[in-house]
Amino acid sequence: MDGCNREALARRVISTCLAMETRGINQGNAGNVSVRFGDGFLITPSGMDYARLRADDIVQVDLDGQSHDRLQPSSEWRMHRDIYTHYPAAGAVLHAHSTFATALSCLRLDIPAFHYMVAVAGGDRIRCADYALFGSQELSDNMLAALEDRRACLLGTHGMICYHDDLDRVLRLGVEIEALAKQYHFACQGGQPVLLDTQQMRAVLDRFADYGKQSGGADED
Ligand code: 13P
Ligand code: ZN
Repeated sequence: MDGCNREALARRVISTCLAMETRGINQGNAGNVSVRFGDGFLITPSGMDYARLRADDIVQVDLDGQSHDRLQPSSEWRMHRDIYTHYPAAGAVLHAHSTFATALSCLRLDIPAFHYMVAVAGGDRIRCADYALFGSQELSDNMLAALEDRRACLLGTHGMICYHDDLDRVLRLGVEIEALAKQYHFACQGGQPVLLDTQQMRAVLDRFADYGKQSGGADED
């Protein structure tokens, strides 16, 4: 990402935010998006309508939390910073208050192995972090605990957060987490979903290690 020009990357952050709307995972001005850049990251400004964002509204934040731009960074810069610090492979982070993920987070439910696709988050369940005030370090600490060995988690009575290698993949992952939350919600309406066991999920995770990596083409994970 270092080789990329800041303005071009800022535009890609904005197009990811706009895509959150078209892909149905946005809720008003909530949520935020960032991409690793230089010694820190570029992140959406706090409390602004995505449709009005311009490239120079996107805020650069260092890993020590310093920002040097005109606008205030997202109030959730600590969660983004802590993901970049703890997961060196993380290239982009997306936080959303998408409807079904948020509804499950209000029930403080993990998404268990009701469907094999929960493995997209890297394990056999997508955990729900304990509640803490938005924008607080406590929220970020709770998130890190729920994210252990995972790319995504729910945030108690708040929403979801995920990271991936780049903006395209993190958007796809966010959309997938919301789809899983919706499927789990509907499956629960008909009774108690049958959960895949540890061995079945281990087999899925093994298969995911090389699934979708087409030779000569863009991978689809
Ligand atoms: P920001 O507008 O500060 O990014 O906050 C939105 C949000 O979702 C807080 O949790
Ligand atoms: Zn939020």
